[in-house]
Amino acid sequence: MSGSVDLGEKISILASAAKYDASCASSGSSGKGGKFGVSLPAGVCHSWTEDGRCVSLLKVLFSNSCRFDCAYCVNRASADVKRSSFTVQELVDLTCEFYRRNYIEGLFLSSGIFADPDIVMEKLIETAKTLRSQAGYGGYIHLKIIPGTGEKLIREAGLWADRLSVNIELPTEKSLQNLAPDKSGKMILGAMGNFSELNLEFEENRRKPRFLSCGKNTAPAFAPAGQSTQLIVGASAEDDRQIINLSSSLYRKFELRRVYYSAFIHPRAGDPRLPETPGPPLVREHRLYQADWLLRFYHFSAAEILGENEPFLDSHLDPKTAWALKHIDFFPIEINRADYETLLRIPGIGAKTARRVIETRRSRSLSFDGLRRLGAVLKRARYFITCGGSFIERPDDPLRIRRLLSDIDGAGLQLPLFEF
Ligand code: SF4
Repeated sequence: MSGSVDLGEKISILASAAKYDASCASSGSSGKGGKFGVSLPAGVCHSWTEDGRCVSLLKVLFSNSCRFDCAYCVNRASADVKRSSFTVQELVDLTCEFYRRNYIEGLFLSSGIFADPDIVMEKLIETAKTLRSQAGYGGYIHLKIIPGTGEKLIREAGLWADRLSVNIELPTEKSLQNLAPDKSGKMILGAMGNFSELNLEFEENRRKPRFLSCGKNTAPAFAPAGQSTQLIVGASAEDDRQIINLSSSLYRKFELRRVYYSAFIHPRAGDPRLPETPGPPLVREHRLYQADWLLRFYHFSAAEILGENEPFLDSHLDPKTAWALKHIDFFPIEINRADYETLLRIPGIGAKTARRVIETRRSRSLSFDGLRRLGAVLKRARYFITCGGSFIERPDDPLRIRRLLSDIDGAGLQLPLFEF
């Protein structure tokens, strides 16, 4: 399968083939180097942890040969691309070498489906197991669950990996049938369900007294960084409301740590099943990330973000400001009296700032200046708050506020790791 391709070329092919998977929230490195600055080898990308820390990962496929023919994928069976595969030992050596040289803090490993799903999954598990049990590797490992893998191998994978993910890919069964006919919702959700049940089982075991020795829990951990998924945005016709409803239900049912949204990039060799697009819908992707933030950290429900007759998020306003303008009678909020939940509803005040406000108010009242020092973005919050009864700007005409706040966050240009 790998022919006479040398290791350097393999890395280049299999790193490039992995870069469209957004489920580790990464930004690729060109790896081209130059005279100045830090140059990372091919396959090394930056990724962000839950708490916003930037880490470097080796992000590669085990193989880019695939029996499946997903229309949106550069590695699909019908695509005319050069194919290659690593051996387990090559990947282990490469990961250890990069780790020792401090190029990476972890490995993100996925694969095309070059054989029966269980056989492919076994290769990924063997790589992780060899790294942990023979090579003494202590870095982070994220393994992709290959669609169609059985529960037994998911259990095994979770013993060696920090995180597992199975990509939901598209929002509905109809779109899967159209663009990824070898996959099904049952297959994908089944794997997520298996993960949740295993997670629960391992958690319960860890609470049992027989696993406690000298106060230390000896029960094995199962994928301690949880599970995540990726959803492609713009390759099929579903609207934002369908996507947000789906994400909300995935978070509830399977306790996913993250849904990653990936703006659809037209593969070079087009497929007639795909829509013609002017380019990846980056602003839409960005607004979905912000809406996702509202679901996970700001206690909004999916129905509050987009109502029945609102198919798409506002492309010019972040979804929290859009909600505030639709509920202008809810404002102004008195900063020195509001509870935590109410503070979270104010545009420009994020979860961290809201916690600091509650904390600070125990010893003193807050002024606008004090609020700004705690991290509030007053250019957004000013229309929605009072401090000690005073306004900076009285909330009046939502249309005027909308005009003033439109497009001030550089939508589409940054990850939503800021307070809004
Ligand atoms: S299963 Fe589909 S998305 Fe995954 S590598 Fe194969 S063609 Fe690409």
